Amino acid sequence: MTSTDALDEIAHCSFCGQPDTKVEKLVAGPGVYICNECVALAASIIDGTIGSPARPRTPVWESMTGDEMLSHIPRVAAHIEQAEADLRSWVQELRRRGVTWTRIGEALGITRQSAWERFSGEE
Ligand SMILES: [Zn+2]
Repeated sequence: MTSTDALDEIAHCSFCGQPDTKVEKLVAGPGVYICNECVALAASIIDGTIGSPARPRTPVWESMTGDEMLSHIPRVAAHIEQAEADLRSWVQELRRRGVTWTRIGEALGITRQSAWERFSGEE
């Protein structure tokens, strides 16, 4: 990956981790994204074309080495950062519309002060 690619990237698929620059389409949800390839895979699983466990896949830590787990956790962290950035942009738009920190805090189940400290960018 060149640094130019990294600059052009806006978001990553929350399922496979590919950046928007590497997939045809990326659909946005609240703090998450899914690429056209993962949508197609999910559709195949729903259609029954591809088998799937009844429950969502969870990491099987017992079968992973420490190094494998270490290489996985940056992807988990990237999802948190992506979701945080999405939440921040929603809050910025609410502030632009004149919505108070009190109401934003109430919506998030935190105090006005906590909302301000987390999202205002001021100290
Ligand atoms: Zn994907």
